[in-house]
Amino acid sequence: MGDVASMTRTVGIFSTGGTIAMTAQPGEQGVAPEAGFDLLSPMRAAHPDLGLEHIELFAKPSASVSLADVQQIADQIEAGLQAGFCGAVVTHGTDTLEETAFALSLLMPTSKPVVVTGAMRSPEAAGADGPANLASAIFVAANREAEGLGPAVMFGDEIHAPHLVRKIHSSRPHAFTSDPFGPMGHIVEGRLDLQMRPTLVRKPLRVGGPVPPVPIIQAGLDLEPETVAAFFGAEIGALVIAGVGGGHVSSRAVDAISDLAQAIPVIITSRVGMGHTLSRSYAYGGSEIDLARRGVINGGRWRPAQARIIVQLLLSAGKSRQDIADWLSH
Ligand code: ASP
Repeated sequence: MGDVASMTRTVGIFSTGGTIAMTAQPGEQGVAPEAGFDLLSPMRAAHPDLGLEHIELFAKPSASVSLADVQQIADQIEAGLQAGFCGAVVTHGTDTLEETAFALSLLMPTSKPVVVTGAMRSPEAAGADGPANLASAIFVAANREAEGLGPAVMFGDEIHAPHLVRKIHSSRPHAFTSDPFGPMGHIVEGRLDLQMRPTLVRKPLRVGGPVPPVPIIQAGLDLEPETVAAFFGAEIGALVIAGVGGGHVSSRAVDAISDLAQAIPVIITSRVGMGHTLSRSYAYGGSEIDLARRGVINGGRWRPAQARIIVQLLLSAGKSRQDIADWLSH
């Protein structure tokens, strides 16, 4: 990273892999990450007025990005912002893009824009969306109106809050939504129309040591006690249950869940993907009230994958079961 303090507006583009930088080997079917992929050449024509600096952090498919990797992304961006970047862009695979954006929002104290983007179509595909997404992300990262934004997601000219955005389609270009809230803003005719900003502000977390495994199991019709019991004695830090509805499981699974909750933190969330895990509405066996009595921690507003990230970060920093419950309840 060069001395950027002397330049007027310089955006750092931190690449991590993903479809936006994947190519096919001659004669092979399917694309894979290409180290050293040139993301920037087309961007220089789109943004002749800006300094652009490419920092390749790694070139991975996003299912293999770890929380330690995300801490590295956060630390490298912090260093770049300290050195004078006006904002940062992270290029990333779309499969876990929402998780990295969410984790960055937990790890980064910055108020400068950190815009995470990617592509649904690879660079050589007809209608490749990577260059347009990247150009828009750079535009936001350099925009004075985006100061104070911190981590956000840019996709299809929409700017999304990192805790609301979700991938909702496995292949079509319009793959991200923040429903039912909607995006924070849009790019319209080359202008930034930013109508909302995240209000959730917390003391930043940090990966404090080894990140323990935290599996997520999903309830459905008649969650079997055996599924829960399979985790007894396993080397895991906690278990997240994606419950049905407001955070519910079958009545016959609750004894196994109670037993496991004596040994490790067990967190109940909702598989629905929108809305809080309930806390005082239902009182039958396997309901949220029953689970709370059995020592299960309520996941609050967080989706299962978000709760998993929060719990992993807290456990990596040696935090207690009570710290986890307190954090998830806010
Ligand atoms: N399909 C993915 C993408 O959009 C692959 C990945 O997530 O790395 O980049």
